[in-house]
Amino acid sequence: MTGSLQVEMESLVLCGTPAVSGVACAPAVRPGARLRVAESTDSIPEPGRASEQAAFLAAAATVADRLRGRAARAGGAAAEVLAANAAMATDRGWLGVAQKLIAAGTPARAAAVAATDQFAEMFIKLGGLMAERVTDLRDVCDRVVAELAGAPEPGIPVPPEPSILLADDLAPADAAGLDPSLIIGLATSFGGPTSHTAIIARQLGIPCVVAVAGLDAIAAGTPVLLDGSSGRVVIDPDPEVAARAVERFRARTARDAAWTGPGATADGHRVEVLVNVQDGPGAQAARRTPAEGVGLFRTELCFLDRETEPAVAEQERIYREVFDAYAGAKVVIRTLDAGSDKPLRFADHADEANPALGVRGIRIAARDAGILDRQLDAISQAAAGRSPVPWVMAPMISTAAEAESFAEKVRGRGLIPGAMIEVPAAALTAEAILRHVDFLSVGTNDLAQYTMAADRMSPALAALTDPWQPAVLALVARTAAAGQRLGKPVGVCGEAAADPALACVLVGFGVGSLSMAAGAVAAVGAGLAEVTREQCERAATAALAASDPAAARAAVRAFLGWAPGA
Ligand code: PEP
Ligand code: MG
Repeated sequence: MTGSLQVEMESLVLCGTPAVSGVACAPAVRPGARLRVAESTDSIPEPGRASEQAAFLAAAATVADRLRGRAARAGGAAAEVLAANAAMATDRGWLGVAQKLIAAGTPARAAAVAATDQFAEMFIKLGGLMAERVTDLRDVCDRVVAELAGAPEPGIPVPPEPSILLADDLAPADAAGLDPSLIIGLATSFGGPTSHTAIIARQLGIPCVVAVAGLDAIAAGTPVLLDGSSGRVVIDPDPEVAARAVERFRARTARDAAWTGPGATADGHRVEVLVNVQDGPGAQAARRTPAEGVGLFRTELCFLDRETEPAVAEQERIYREVFDAYAGAKVVIRTLDAGSDKPLRFADHADEANPALGVRGIRIAARDAGILDRQLDAISQAAAGRSPVPWVMAPMISTAAEAESFAEKVRGRGLIPGAMIEVPAAALTAEAILRHVDFLSVGTNDLAQYTMAADRMSPALAALTDPWQPAVLALVARTAAAGQRLGKPVGVCGEAAADPALACVLVGFGVGSLSMAAGAVAAVGAGLAEVTREQCERAATAALAASDPAAARAAVRAFLGWAPGA
């Protein structure tokens, strides 16, 4: 767990890692604990069995009603999942088995668990989709058991008013079921900015802070002001201060919605604001944002479920979908970044003790050049006749020699070669690498992981993989300076580009394009439009001089003239 404690104007301030920007103030709620039902040897005496059955049916009906209500309020996939869970609570087979057990004297709670075990065993035997329903069935059972015990609902609560959820962390299924109209903020003790919880919260637009120390001590019902941009969680805030912070956020949201691009600072310095995509439908959806092109097409994400390498023709079709979605616009496509957290079965890495430091990204080409050659063929065929010509970059470049060999293959197919800077060695030798390629794109997610020797997936190390770490910023600045010296473009496509304040710092370093998740485009573009290039440069100098991420964030916001947040 990371983060720190501060006391400010009588309010306790907990600090964590910002994960999803946004400001909310509301009472805290906590997930209900799941009750354990001990195996019962007691038997309900005959006269009490009818009322035990009635209590069981009433509890199941209440749970079903609650889930149906939540389904009606939720949209899309979440509504479907909740409606299916409601149907489980009224499933005649499940109710029947439990009722039979109760009729034989088993207490209702134990009967619910036994009936669930019976169905779970059957589902697991059936396998596939049915087996996946076991978690849902157990969740429904836990809710019925809690209802029977008169205990609060387990898992994610459905509060009577908009609330801020404080939790250790959330299971992905719980996070996906959050209703953003009721859970308006989320703070977790664990998790990192790239954890599932953060990713789902981002998708749902719920302001979120992760890795917050001291959260355990905050009781449900306590007023909380949460700022997902600064990572601050203020306990029992001054109501006026809280109201002002929420209002400022509302005004900022309205400003973001009004931003239509293209990217530039207030004094007209051009910065391309681009979007990260993973397939054609994602690129189509991203068209709804003012992003002026694609700065990172993560091609490996199209093939995570494949046993065998997709044929060139199929790859060509998939890549063309993204090119077509952004017809006439810039598209930067990345060759397969297989390995580590994104293994591809067909790129087949032998068992590696440490896959993050193993044969991943461009290193696969050294062992099997065919995969890269065929992918480049597919890209060039998909790009035939396209204007502008796509930019093609390699992930995990570590040496100038790797960049040189990649560039030759890409230029040979009439495409524009670039290298990702994700390895400290590459950042330190950025100029030598850039001599061989036409552009660089900094992947701050991996650059932070390798610079800080901290697994980007590890919640416990989230504070170390923070892109505001001085060492990470220094390497990005060095990379940008290489671009300025050679007069070639340097962009950033890691999560750092999605943070409006950090985006300004990157521009201050000399970065010319920022690529990010679709949801971040408007806030980054509108933020840039508010500040001058000089402010960005001064903020960049201040960030480099700061001793830690929190100090860097505070100093930068001051130079940008932005309120410190909640
Ligand atoms: C990065 O490492 O910052 C990056 C953009 O690549 P990915 O997140 O796909 O590893
Ligand atoms: Mg990466």
